[in-house]
Amino acid sequence: MNFTITLTPGDGIGPEVVRQAVRVLDVIAAKFNHTFTYRERLLGGCSIDQFGAALTDETLADCQSADAVLLGAVGGPKWDDPQAKVRPEQGLLALRKGLGVFANLRPVKVHPALVNASPVRAERLHGVDMIVVRELTGGLYFGQPKERRMIDGKERAVDTLEYWDYEIHRIIELAFQLALPRKKKVSSVDKANVLESSRLWRQIAIEVGKKYPTVTLEHMLVDTAAMRLVASPTNVDVMVTENMFGDILTDEASVLAGSMGMLPSASLGASGPGLYEPIHGSAPDIAGKGIANPVGTILSCALMLRYSLKCEKEAAAIETAVERAISAGCLTKDLNGKLGSAQMTDEIIARLRG
Ligand code: NAD
Repeated sequence: MNFTITLTPGDGIGPEVVRQAVRVLDVIAAKFNHTFTYRERLLGGCSIDQFGAALTDETLADCQSADAVLLGAVGGPKWDDPQAKVRPEQGLLALRKGLGVFANLRPVKVHPALVNASPVRAERLHGVDMIVVRELTGGLYFGQPKERRMIDGKERAVDTLEYWDYEIHRIIELAFQLALPRKKKVSSVDKANVLESSRLWRQIAIEVGKKYPTVTLEHMLVDTAAMRLVASPTNVDVMVTENMFGDILTDEASVLAGSMGMLPSASLGASGPGLYEPIHGSAPDIAGKGIANPVGTILSCALMLRYSLKCEKEAAAIETAVERAISAGCLTKDLNGKLGSAQMTDEIIARLRG
């Protein structure tokens, strides 16, 4: 099969980890007889430097017309001025919007060799294997009005938490689909005791749940979910929630895996290319040193193969190679190992070929 992949490596360690992930994709292409055509484009701070915009129309068009997009990370101190009119993150938000990706999937699987790397007690981490699904294009971050206003000499700020039924429906549906081949459990997270939008969320979760009699649906208030994620993470299979709750809970869940550098993500829409990226940022403190953990980006390629390119065998091959490398003690510096980005990738590639 022939696939076109747009690469937006971005800033800081972004280009370093994307370079390693492409090496893995090239091995997959050779092993499974595919052709990957890469189009590399600027995004974030480097695009601001070159074009004055964090995402140009041309780059967006090249992302929209690809089979999938692989992103590194954007941002860094050079572009951090809060007064700046153009910021790297704007590129990321515009890209998500332009691709229409409404669901962010973050699988969190704790490798047995890494249970001691997390601040959570090791005995709670054995067997953790979950996907947190966050709604990405609605809710508090996008609702209008969003403003500040002076009223009778006092300043008032407003954000609006708004959801349409169809926005909730499509993400809950996706969560059930994801649960089917897994442990068949969906934990829907809301704040239905306080928020009207959460009551609509819960109502729709129940409606959609009726279509999936083999999947267990549980409702959890977001405060309870925050506790459960660290107190009993093995009980979570697929957790689905709205945008802001998901923003917070996905970062909390990432702590279970021991390092930010380990975790992949996929952002999916109803159709069109998916957006794949590690969950970490541009890590300016280690950029240019060749020590960034490439695993999150390499596992993002596995998600790309699974969800956008429909190549399940190839996706599983990458995941198995990563697992075997870690089991053999191959670790980067963020996990108290000795390997640099390229050496870690060499170890994964050796197991992919083997
Ligand atoms: P960060 O994720 O870049 O780094 C946090 C810590 O984790 C740092 O100590 C870093 O060295 C370490 N780390 C992150 N990824 C690693 C990897 N692959 N291997 C080894 N160690 C790794 O978060 P931050 O420091 O808060 O943000 C830095 C910049 O990244 C900021 O400009 C921020 O806006 C941006 N950012 C971008 C994204 C994105 O592009 N999606 C996400 C988060 C932050």
